Amino acid sequence: MRYADNITRLESEGAFVVLARARQMEREGKKVIHLQIGEPDFDTPRNITEAAYRAILNGQTHYAPSGGVPEAREVVADYMSRTRKVKWGAENAIIMPGCKPLIYCSMMALINPGDEIIVPNPGYPTYRSVTRFLGATPVPVKLREQNDFRFLVSDLEKLITSKTRMIILNSPENPTGGQLTWEDLEAIYAIAKKHDLWILSDEIYSRIVYDTEFKSVASISGALDRTVAIDGLSKTYAMTGWRLGFACMPKQLADYLFTLAINAFSSTATFTQYAMIEALTGPQDEIERMVAEFRRRRDVIVDGLNAIEGIKCLKPEGAFYVFPNITGTGLTSKQFADLALEQAGVACLSGAAFGEYGEGYARFSYANSIDNIRAALKKLTEVMATASR
Ligand code: PMP
Repeated sequence: MRYADNITRLESEGAFVVLARARQMEREGKKVIHLQIGEPDFDTPRNITEAAYRAILNGQTHYAPSGGVPEAREVVADYMSRTRKVKWGAENAIIMPGCKPLIYCSMMALINPGDEIIVPNPGYPTYRSVTRFLGATPVPVKLREQNDFRFLVSDLEKLITSKTRMIILNSPENPTGGQLTWEDLEAIYAIAKKHDLWILSDEIYSRIVYDTEFKSVASISGALDRTVAIDGLSKTYAMTGWRLGFACMPKQLADYLFTLAINAFSSTATFTQYAMIEALTGPQDEIERMVAEFRRRRDVIVDGLNAIEGIKCLKPEGAFYVFPNITGTGLTSKQFADLALEQAGVACLSGAAFGEYGEGYARFSYANSIDNIRAALKKLTEVMATASR
């Protein structure tokens, strides 16, 4: 049988590949500590679950309009405007089943074959995978460890050509936990404006920040005309399985995304959108508790990794990942991740799964309990001591 040429250009995600291997080991009776998956281990707050339940009982079980339930779009526009200190209306807001379809559909609507798209590297694999799928070229901009895993604006500037169409930002970032500064964002916006580029800003970790305040490129005066700001409930509200994401963007683009939604999946589930209204407008104290717990875990994992010979780990200010430099172990990223899983029973990801500039690093998610993190650190310490002997 024949398949479309484009389909072979899509990549899988390292986290899902490692998960499959870890599950196989578990079936064989081995114990695995899961530090590979970017998924909060907390339960969804009860007020949100109850809102979904009420919506089902109230009959909210039919198709929704393709861009989202009108009240939910109002709430999204208000939430995004409030948190980014700008003014978006409901006509700019769109709801989809997760951040991922918003990234995918925005890229479908904006990228032509032959375009060049600037993607952070190491970075979330979907950006480069979808770019290639669309027949365009991902152009990696290097995140530098010595720059707290921010890219240099001077590096970015050198990568712009007449074919560049879009810059993708992800701050706080997966996999490094790094964050762009306000000065970075201003300089990036100036470049985007000068060269007439779109900015796709994946802001899914906007609420998981520690010692700094989240900053969006959308807040820069004039940026709304060329910015797609994407956020969602998966990480902030521990709702990965609910599949709820939202974004604000120029109205014309939102209209194109509605049409894409109509053709691809009609609408996001209706009752979950009522849960989203409760999430965004209801009490937020559970979120504060979760973020405080992530901070405690971050401190434990950073200190523990730094105590292992050959590993050097920065303390990130956002998201729930650490991205230690493992070059001192003498192993490649893949060898390190394989050894961690097969011998220590600790599932983590090779930095190289996030692009070539991720070589020499590993990604650990600390969305797991402190006890499990401590146990993982103990095992890793033992295995690395033998490996480096
Ligand atoms: N963007 C980034 C940077 C992510 O890390 C993830 C989840 N791993 C997503 C998007 C996808 O989020 P969602 O569950 O909302 O599709």
